[in-house]
Amino acid sequence: MSSESFLSLALPGVQALSPYEPGKPIEELQRELGLSEIIKLASNESPLGCSRAARKAAVEVLDELARYPDGSGFGLKQALSQKLGVDSDCLTLGNGSNDVLELIARAFLSPQHEALFSEHAFAVYPLVTQAIGARAVVSPARDWGHDLEAMAARISPATRVIFIANPNNPTGTWIARNTLEAFLEAVPTNTLVVLDEAYFEYVDERAYPDGVSYLARYPNVIVTRTFSKAYGLAGLRVGYGVSSPEVADLLNRVRQPFNVNSVALAAATAALSDSEHLVASVAANREGMAQLVAGIETLGLSYVPSVGNFLTVEVGHPGRVIYQALLEKGVIVRPIEAYGMPQHLRVSIGLEVENARFLQALEDVLKVYPC
Ligand SMILES: *Cc1c(COP(=O)(O)O)cnc(C)c1O
Repeated sequence: MSSESFLSLALPGVQALSPYEPGKPIEELQRELGLSEIIKLASNESPLGCSRAARKAAVEVLDELARYPDGSGFGLKQALSQKLGVDSDCLTLGNGSNDVLELIARAFLSPQHEALFSEHAFAVYPLVTQAIGARAVVSPARDWGHDLEAMAARISPATRVIFIANPNNPTGTWIARNTLEAFLEAVPTNTLVVLDEAYFEYVDERAYPDGVSYLARYPNVIVTRTFSKAYGLAGLRVGYGVSSPEVADLLNRVRQPFNVNSVALAAATAALSDSEHLVASVAANREGMAQLVAGIETLGLSYVPSVGNFLTVEVGHPGRVIYQALLEKGVIVRPIEAYGMPQHLRVSIGLEVENARFLQALEDVLKVYPC
């Protein structure tokens, strides 16, 4: 068999996928441009890093690396169970919450089924859907955010899973309680609704719904959250799903037995008990967001109001061109044409000095590329 015909055997959905483009690592830009003093505001990482207690717990596990991790994640599940007020058997731990999204696709989707999500939504939804060979149905956005009425209208008998990011990445838009509740009422009980709450901890809006509160009423809901963002543990890869025990049981069956490593389990467990650090991380984000929004407004640019730890800015040029020019100044942000936003850039909230440096670099670049 020629290699060409061999490659054509890959699932059509896999062949149609564009590879996920992660934020450019600092070391890579260092290699490419020989720059030092690089700042990265490209992956919604916490500029404060993780809690000291989490770091200490991680270091302590280093003496035990010859041992397999606790495959049931007992300690972390106990801590999460207490924090969230749910039974341990409602939890599914993942190698990042992306892992949980994939478990959901593997457990519930097939080539005969559809997954539904919004335009401009998180890139991992098409990825996990198409990797299974299921059909991805993309619903149009409204004001860059989810239009749940439009989504409800696209539910078909083949729809098995609906992915909703609240808040959404890369737009930072969010869905209010009453809107979400009307949607959950409209969804057939045999369709799963995934509420992806990766930025839950940052949101300070009275009408923002806590997905976990819907589980009792809607057993078809799965909430996913992560330690990668506000907890500052992106490098360790830990996230979780909260669902009915029956759904969790199915997800745990398809999970790799040791999908969350021992260092990650220990650090995440410790991070949960350091609420002071979480509060500091959220407060720093609020201040950084205000700084960035003020700076963007001063530059006369428009942006999508965001409740996450990032801001998506319309730059009036192909985003990739401005991105490249910023790279040459040692500032890494994220172009998002793959999300259907070719004139926008997403910038993560950094430390005050990093935000200031980004704003200055953007101002300098826009002198060369005036709007
Ligand atoms: C960052 C992010 C995730 C989580 O990623 P993990 O690091 O795998 O936990 C999930 N959903 C959205 C919308 C995100 O932006």
